[in-house]
Amino acid sequence: MNGVILVEEFFWAEKAVDEIVAKKKNLYVCEGMWTPSGFFHIGNARPEIFTPYSVFVVLKDRGFKARQNFIIDDFDAVRKIPSGLGIAKEREPEFLGYPCAVAQSPVKGFQTWAEFFVSDVRKHVEDFGVPLNIISAYATYKNGLFNDLISFSLDHAKDIVGVWNRIAGTDKEGGFLPVQVVCPDCGKIYFTKALSWDGKKVGYECSACKSKGEVSPFNGAVKLHWRVHWVCHWIVHEVAFESGGKDHFSKGGSVEVGRALIQEVFKHEPPVQFPTEFIQFKGAKMSGSVGNVISLGQWLEAAPPELFRFMNLSTRPQRVLEFSFDPSSFFILDERFLRAERVFFGQEKAENEKIERQLKRAYSLSLLSKPPEKMPVQVQFSFAVFLSQLVDPQKDFEKILGILSSTGHVKGALPASEKKILQARFLRAKKWVEKHAPQEQKVGFVEKLDSAVLSGIKPEIRAVFFVIAKKIAAIESADEMQKAVFELAKSNRVEPKDLFESMYLVLIGKNRGPKIGSLVFALGKDKTVKRLLEVK
Ligand SMILES: [Zn+2]
Repeated sequence: MNGVILVEEFFWAEKAVDEIVAKKKNLYVCEGMWTPSGFFHIGNARPEIFTPYSVFVVLKDRGFKARQNFIIDDFDAVRKIPSGLGIAKEREPEFLGYPCAVAQSPVKGFQTWAEFFVSDVRKHVEDFGVPLNIISAYATYKNGLFNDLISFSLDHAKDIVGVWNRIAGTDKEGGFLPVQVVCPDCGKIYFTKALSWDGKKVGYECSACKSKGEVSPFNGAVKLHWRVHWVCHWIVHEVAFESGGKDHFSKGGSVEVGRALIQEVFKHEPPVQFPTEFIQFKGAKMSGSVGNVISLGQWLEAAPPELFRFMNLSTRPQRVLEFSFDPSSFFILDERFLRAERVFFGQEKAENEKIERQLKRAYSLSLLSKPPEKMPVQVQFSFAVFLSQLVDPQKDFEKILGILSSTGHVKGALPASEKKILQARFLRAKKWVEKHAPQEQKVGFVEKLDSAVLSGIKPEIRAVFFVIAKKIAAIESADEMQKAVFELAKSNRVEPKDLFESMYLVLIGKNRGPKIGSLVFALGKDKTVKRLLEVK
């Protein structure tokens, strides 16, 4: 890793790493696990990818060998059809009950149910700079890596049930077998019950197709019950660190049961584990089945990957994160990132030294590569949102650059690499307007002036419009324009506020907007002059 990471302030991940490396292994595996039963979203990405990633980064930084696994738990059954897929009720049995790795894809163009839902992660996770080792649980069973553990679990079913009942306070019966059989007749896994184990075969019955019989439990014929399945993953992949949603960590919950099982029954060491809080979306937990989610792909359309890394890396996993694409959430996060950038480059001071160190560290960790030598051009997202609506950042980016020079954002010529980054920001701002902008953020030139608006403009303001229209040609920058309008208001004895408001009304049909200077340069001087004279 590059040397910019100052490990000492990264408290929680540091502590986890101290604990992990005390076990003295050659390779430290950080892991997250996710069932592809519905849409993957940034709420899953936090506990299952970014908390392990934080530990992975610190391990690498301290010179240890590490790997990050992401287990797709695709042997799990499709239990429910997520909303938004448009699958008719009568077609649901075509999907329900099959392992996710076997069920057909709900959407054309993908091999299986699992492949469809994993596709967003596969496609985008590298764009977030995470070198993820994606592993199919189903393939691991198929390849026989769980065979010994399946035998062992069936042989020790009584011990497993004993520990489970004691920790979770359940009353599972003594004959319970911790496996789920894939019905050899209908192929579904959700409706079978394991009845017997004779050391070679598992007896089962299937309530979906009424099949009954015996199967050899190896190479993908059965899946371990998920509490045992989880524990056996720790053993198979030699997991050193794992995170998961906070709900698993409750008293008597799956984490506590799993840790007791691995120590008492399987006689292995459990991994270091860390609970991670949810990402809330407008006050509610993001949920793939409710549909209030943001996928990795949707994130990248409107926001840079660095910002998601920053959100995760600058917050302890135990803190609930609240995020939506509303300006009150998204713009503020973006501003926090820009501030961290200014602090990193010494352009702004933090409240104290500790915060300064933390901001610098969170910023440098959030970048996908080494920090640049000098601070990149900063353009507030709200300003990019405004400009990208008046000038097309795809076709006419040079014009945007011209406006940014006239507003003082850009000083001198920009290297091509920085231009590209800046253009990406404007393209995202444009996408944000399309997908997420509330009405008050939408800006456009009023092509045809409303007569009611026109008659509402006071005569003394109209007179100043005339003066401004005559002066615009000689004005060379947005800042100069801003000052000129302000001074003309004063010298003509009208309230600057009234003048600005009237200008917004006749130009963009709103009472307020971005700075008048920027607005005039974004619209173009000719267009503005024409409009001001039209009002006169
Ligand atoms: Zn069946």
